[in-house]
Amino acid sequence: MKPVRILVVEDSTVARALLARTLSRAGFEVIEATDGADGALKALADPPDAVVTDLEMPIMDGYQLLRLLKNDPATAHVPVVILTSHSDAPSRFWGYRTGADRYLTKDQAQDEIVDLVRSLTDGGTLPPAPRSSATLGTTEILGRVARHLDATLLRTTFVNTLLERGIAATEFPETLRTVLATLSEVVDAHLLGIGVTEPQLVTLHCLAPHPVAEPTIQAFAGRLLERLPAMPGASVEVVVHGEREGSEVLGLDDLCTLELALHDAAGQLAILPRRRQEFAETSQPLIQASIRHLGLVLDNSRLAQRLRELSMLDGLTRLLNHRAIHERLVEEITRAHRYDTRLSVVICDLDHFKNVNDTYGHLTGDAVLQAAARAMRSALRAADSLGRFGGEEFLAVLPETDLEAARAAAERLRVAVANEEVLLPTGEAVRITASLGVATLIEVGSDARADTLITLADSRLYQAKEAGRNCVKP
Ligand code: GH3
Ligand code: MG
Ligand code: MG
Repeated sequence: MKPVRILVVEDSTVARALLARTLSRAGFEVIEATDGADGALKALADPPDAVVTDLEMPIMDGYQLLRLLKNDPATAHVPVVILTSHSDAPSRFWGYRTGADRYLTKDQAQDEIVDLVRSLTDGGTLPPAPRSSATLGTTEILGRVARHLDATLLRTTFVNTLLERGIAATEFPETLRTVLATLSEVVDAHLLGIGVTEPQLVTLHCLAPHPVAEPTIQAFAGRLLERLPAMPGASVEVVVHGEREGSEVLGLDDLCTLELALHDAAGQLAILPRRRQEFAETSQPLIQASIRHLGLVLDNSRLAQRLRELSMLDGLTRLLNHRAIHERLVEEITRAHRYDTRLSVVICDLDHFKNVNDTYGHLTGDAVLQAAARAMRSALRAADSLGRFGGEEFLAVLPETDLEAARAAAERLRVAVANEEVLLPTGEAVRITASLGVATLIEVGSDARADTLITLADSRLYQAKEAGRNCVKP
């Protein structure tokens, strides 16, 4: 059987001889190197089964040797043991962070190193060592170290930039845009995209740093969407940034997708590189090495935004809750005053809703509330806000809407609710109506506050109830 070859890298002649003797006696074939550079030369020329190295050495120290060996395909799989007199925490930290498989201090018994080396080289699970064909000189090896350091620095700088910019963005779509823009600075790409699937929502952002034809963007987005898990019923939000006016139609053969590790969501990063070869050699390793940080940046902003949204939403109807719709009204009043625009509100209260609860039970009451909320939301414009103001009472805030238009909107709400029906398991359909009060800002004076406007709308709601319900006042 071929003896197991151990490379011992140690600048102290005495220590090296001692260790070599111990390992030889234990049956290993020992190759000796007098410092890191010598060790690198020997390891790369003919990869050993394991390396035991000192840390402090002239020319090239143990960390540099370790970094070089762990980054070179010829030696990346070779276990490395650091054997040092340094027992301080930072040395140990850097040793492990640099890729050491074990960290031993010299005061640990010599037979411990034998057991350790044996366990690391045991089992025959090691891949066959690919020989590096080139004969390597010291200059060549130092050049490699410099390139590895450079790559590490680039990665660190890139990750820092990502974190800095990603965390500065407050909203999730803004973070997606920022992350894509940052990626486009280090990757020469036709198109970059990120897709995130959450239970209710699929968000897909694409960036075209250079002009690309619309069909290419569509096909790119389609491919990205295909790679995400299907969520029946989820809404899909697609945003394209950058240059979509181009005429260049591109194939997607070079498309590269990477999975993003996200919390409670699935994510994909897609890149269509401009030069496949160059991308594979330089950009892809950089992105792959930063993919975890990318996920963290996205998660941070996505979860913060979802939390903010949750705190604004009513749990039953998913409409804005009382505090959020009131805040929206205050904001809109300020805006209406500043830009001298119209603003109206509608208060809507379901009629005889207590009867629904009393007749069919509270759960059916909940279902009716949800159905009414859904119907009203779809009867409004996107710019309008709708909130659950109280139990079975809703407030709609309608920007740039005068009294006449607001009454028309309220009428649409009334019809939407009246047309809604909730089917019971028995097959019976439960229907409901609503009474609505409308008020507009100019009626209550130019310096009016939210509460004054609401009080006026409320008094009209009362009139609608008095007038027999299922109607709009004024
Ligand atoms: P009116 O036409 O005068 O508005 O009559 P009403 O029965 O709708 O009004 P009332 O204020 O007497 O009753 C409102 C009912 O709404 C009482 C309350 O139990 C019910 N309610 C409030 N919130 C909820 C809820 O979240 N779920 C259910 N199922 N019922 C609710
Ligand atoms: Mg009511
Ligand atoms: Mg009520």
